[in-house]
Amino acid sequence: MSTDTTCLIVGGGPAGMVAGLLLARAGVEVTVLEKHADFLRDFRGDTVHPSTLRLLDELGLGERFDALPQSRLDRVAFPMGERSVTIADFRRLRTSRPYIAMVPQWDLLDLLADAAHEEPTFTLRMNTRATELLWENGRVVGARHEGPDGSGETRARLTLACDGRGSLLRDLSGLQIREFPVGIDAWWFRLPGSAPKEFALAPRAGDGRFMVIFPREGYLQVAYIGHKGTDAQLRERGIAAFREDIAELAPEFADRTDALRSMDEVKHLDVRVDRLRPWHTDGLLCIGDAAHAMSPVGGVGINLAVQDAVGAAALLAGPLRKGGPTPAELARVRRRRLLPTVVVQTLQRLIHRNIVTPILDGRRAGPPKPVVGLLRRFPALTRVPAFLIGMGVRSEHAPAFTRRAPQIPQVARPGPGSAGPSGSADDPAAGNSGDSAGSAHP
Ligand SMILES: Cc1cc2nc3c(=O)[nH]c(=O)nc-3n(C[C@H](O)[C@H](O)[C@H](O)COP(=O)(O)OP(=O)(O)OC[C@H]3O[C@@H](n4cnc5c(N)ncnc54)[C@H](O)[C@@H]3O)c2cc1C
Repeated sequence: MSTDTTCLIVGGGPAGMVAGLLLARAGVEVTVLEKHADFLRDFRGDTVHPSTLRLLDELGLGERFDALPQSRLDRVAFPMGERSVTIADFRRLRTSRPYIAMVPQWDLLDLLADAAHEEPTFTLRMNTRATELLWENGRVVGARHEGPDGSGETRARLTLACDGRGSLLRDLSGLQIREFPVGIDAWWFRLPGSAPKEFALAPRAGDGRFMVIFPREGYLQVAYIGHKGTDAQLRERGIAAFREDIAELAPEFADRTDALRSMDEVKHLDVRVDRLRPWHTDGLLCIGDAAHAMSPVGGVGINLAVQDAVGAAALLAGPLRKGGPTPAELARVRRRRLLPTVVVQTLQRLIHRNIVTPILDGRRAGPPKPVVGLLRRFPALTRVPAFLIGMGVRSEHAPAFTRRAPQIPQVARPGPGSAGPSGSADDPAAGNSGDSAGSAHP
């Protein structure tokens, strides 16, 4: 079966769902293909940062988001002996929601899908996997896919690859990728129970080991960091040795480690940092992890993917409505989003090299002493890392044509007074309404 759409989005992760919602709000016909049957899947990060929270408010979805089960983090602190040192204090950000909300990613994706379904030009096809790109005269004109109704193809003016760090579309496109050496991997698991009320996001380090604990509703999500290539060794040591490692790093949670029954509950993440050189070829654009895989350091992958989607929608909604986009218009998306990507990846690589690896090598138990001294002496400096993690460089605002009045949970459609896709004052071609490059102010 062959169908036509204007923009075919492959992948219903944060990048794909935000791009789908925003383009549909611009009146662009959008089809999203998602290979899974639902959004429930393995843990893939649950951090929703202040930049994304502000975006949800601008989209009129802030109240619906507040109704989701969530916990909040307002600081990242490193325990250093008796005293901890605050590294990032989100309360210092001048933004409406100065905290990180920890929300299961499937709840966020469901919320975005619900909001997108309210737009008549939006179609989401779950359980449908893109398998091949369609080419015509050297141009991508859509994709072939397999789904519940068998195989088919969707032809589109633009195919947006949002299929994540293992992107099939980016492989099929032949786009060149630049990979950066990474010496660490991560292992994710859960421990039962809750953290103390005043808990800050506190990396634990010692004796060549490193771990970060994220308090969640009713459980703790834990990231254990180790040298790359040591997964087999870690599994060979067995669950008892692993439990001991955890108990030593976080003695206050030692009594819960028995809940980890086997190493099967400890999921390995092959940490990668890479970046496409051009992000597009004629008819195809990659964004989110498909354009740049991130390290889990800083927990910024979701937010950067969301920001890419906003930048892409702001630049491409107009051209899509006018019969485009041209390759030059696609190249503008990379130009807009390259700086934030490079800044985050460079910081992540610096943190790998100067903090995480020295800890794993047993050379240090925390951040470098001069940094600790500086942050203790001038606590206002904790706003800088808070800004870089929470807002990021060039944080995107919702373009005017995507904004809606606040919607309370369960409200089906925006009211008649809200900006519609065809609102003349809100021409998508005008692009982003208030790009505050580098500013934490709403
Ligand atoms: C274990 C783990 C922990 C993480 N922790 C954090 C964290 O704490 N904070 C954070 O910000 N980031 C975290 N990340 C990174 C974060 O998940 C990604 O950066 C972010 O999800 C990228 O969004 P995306 O939309 O670009 O891609 P993804 O979220 O990867 O979405 C891609 C989507 O495409 C679908 N798909 C793939 N191939 C096809 C196909 N052929 N056809 C149709 N659909 C397809 C997939 O099913 C998926 O839904 C973590 C990642 C992992 C793996």
